[in-house]
Amino acid sequence: AQERYASLRNLPAQSKCGTVTRLMMNAGLMADLPSIEGSGAEGVGLFRTELQFLIRNQMPKRDELARLYARVMEAAKGRPVAFRTLDIGSDKVLPYMKPQDEPNPAMGWRAIRVGLDKRGVLRMQVQALIRAAAGRPLTVMFPFVSELSEFRDARDELLHQFDREAAMGHPVPADLKIGAMLETPSLAFAPKEFFDLADFISIGGNDLKQFFFAADRENERVRRRYDMLNVSFLTFLGKIVTRCAESDTPLSFCGEDAGRPVEAMCLAALGIGSLSMRPASIGPVKALLRQVDLAEVRSVMAHARAAGAESVRPAIMGWLATLPE
Ligand code: PEP
Ligand code: MG
Repeated sequence: AQERYASLRNLPAQSKCGTVTRLMMNAGLMADLPSIEGSGAEGVGLFRTELQFLIRNQMPKRDELARLYARVMEAAKGRPVAFRTLDIGSDKVLPYMKPQDEPNPAMGWRAIRVGLDKRGVLRMQVQALIRAAAGRPLTVMFPFVSELSEFRDARDELLHQFDREAAMGHPVPADLKIGAMLETPSLAFAPKEFFDLADFISIGGNDLKQFFFAADRENERVRRRYDMLNVSFLTFLGKIVTRCAESDTPLSFCGEDAGRPVEAMCLAALGIGSLSMRPASIGPVKALLRQVDLAEVRSVMAHARAAGAESVRPAIMGWLATLPE
């Protein structure tokens, strides 16, 4: 199987219907970057910047971060890298930050909430990203945005730092894309301005599923209890696809489910154009996507829903079993 995936490395994830899905990889450390070649990833769809902060015992300095981000961009060799700003909270505690005693850290003071309240850290990080990009395109996304005003604030901060760097005569990025992660159900119902303002939206499926089903992703007892292919969740994802389409906003998905071939196929069939996953998942996901017609997948899903199924999984598995090898 490994050889088969290797032979697909330079081929697009083009399904029989002609739709091409972009397959990207998730990363968090410099050491992850070399996999970009072997996996055939078109870029890094999610770079989790908190890992760099978690492996240190003091707050990294701006110039040190800028050098690191520049190395990441160099290693990506012109492929896009979506840098996600710090997603820390009291579950991912930085040794050099005062621990917060919170009853529900996953729903607590984390990610962009910390970034907006502790501006210094967000500011320092976006300055490092802008300096690192110098003359290259830069893609930044904010984690755990729950409402329009949070996105607007974070975006304004980034634009302000961009202007400031330019005014100081520093080389600025050749192009700037600012996106939001959609990981709380509330954001799917935000005013249209949010979808218009975002250059792209990336669904953080791990958190989105956790909050949609109210099932703790860290709790072994419940974390696998609800299926991504549950019709309620798919209906909700369909709503997000529609809202992004209304604003012409590119949509991607970067939770663990993107790396599971059957789930990835259903996400692509829903109209999600880009999937970001562990490098090792790209081969298996691509192999299945190339084998199927997404219009047929959509029709199997629609039939299962019309028949009142709770999950489309049985229908999808039944249909997959009929496909020629
Ligand atoms: C997610 O929530 O799906 C996601 C990609 O972010 P993380 O797993 O880092 O929370
Ligand atoms: Mg998340």
